[in-house]
Amino acid sequence: MENAPKGRRYKSLTREPQFIGSEIYRRSTYGMRHPLAIPRVSTCIDLCRAMGWLPDRQYHDSPLATDEQLARFHTPDYIAALKRAEADQTLSAEERETFNLGRNGNPIFSEVFRRPATASGGSILAAQLVANAGVVYNPAGGTHHGRPDHASGFCFFNDPALCILELLDKGAERVFYLDVDAHHGDGVQDAFGERGNVMTLSVHENGRWPMNARESNGSGTLEDRAGGMARNLPVPADFNDSEMDYIMEACVLPLLDEFGPDTIVLQCGADGLADDPMSRLDLSNGALWRVAGRLLGRAGKFIVLGGGGYNPWSVGRCWAGIWAVLNGYDIPDRLPDPAIEILRALSWRHSKGRNPPDYWMTTLLDPARPGPVRPEIRDIVAEVLRP
Ligand SMILES: [Zn+2]
Repeated sequence: MENAPKGRRYKSLTREPQFIGSEIYRRSTYGMRHPLAIPRVSTCIDLCRAMGWLPDRQYHDSPLATDEQLARFHTPDYIAALKRAEADQTLSAEERETFNLGRNGNPIFSEVFRRPATASGGSILAAQLVANAGVVYNPAGGTHHGRPDHASGFCFFNDPALCILELLDKGAERVFYLDVDAHHGDGVQDAFGERGNVMTLSVHENGRWPMNARESNGSGTLEDRAGGMARNLPVPADFNDSEMDYIMEACVLPLLDEFGPDTIVLQCGADGLADDPMSRLDLSNGALWRVAGRLLGRAGKFIVLGGGGYNPWSVGRCWAGIWAVLNGYDIPDRLPDPAIEILRALSWRHSKGRNPPDYWMTTLLDPARPGPVRPEIRDIVAEVLRP
């Protein structure tokens, strides 16, 4: 395996892909009116089990990250504030401001410490499980906006950063991080942009939050390389499947092969899907499955995390399909009845959820959304490939 030529696909599956989950995501909610009031990871788990794709031997219950682990990236004051917020269900006005908690989409809720600490513990476990080789999936991970000393954009901790730090601690030498969430992966970029051994690449919607965020240096622009090792592809609205395929072939894979990572981390946010209410991107889930499929086998260690995703049907179906791709399972055109029942039991307090289309219930597959590769996409790729 060590002798595999650069860029050549090879099977690294010394063991089966591993799935990290927890029941905490089923029970807890950010609050009734929050976009994350929907079940996401639990839907993915339930669908995978209904399909017979998730035997117990592949499933790991996510541990809670320890304070010491969290402190690899986060400040002790901030960790303590989150614990206090969970215990008291409130913070002082000054603390709310300092830590950006209880405001700006970062609510104080019953599991405000344990839930993100579980997602982080999962991503750290993922790094441990791939210490030698393998594929690990933690769909609760991908909270890419988290900052060392405050919450940002629904993200309390930054589990991708904690995952990458653990990978480096465990001997990874070169980590390639690809982020296909509709929002810029600003927290991860800023954590590693100056380190020569971690390359971060974010494909996200141009002009969408957090591009003007105070802390992110006007992030998400083409020119922003965060000290050297970050690359950004801020794509226009109506970004389609053909354009994602083009970006992978013309830009992501060449950069990846040139960098020569031993580990790949994919943040697979599902909010760039056409059915998602939070972005104007126009992808079908097949485009994201192909992203994961093209990365599989390109490095000995591969970790896939979740991310955004605010339509319970589209996120659950997309992430179950990712697990199928990682395992090499065929995705059937029509789901068996137990899986359909899981999807029919979902509800969504959003206008788009009033008359859900049939395919949200009966299949994992979205209708494909091909289209022209627009000149601005080619321009972005040319700019990003510039040395
Ligand atoms: Zn997002």
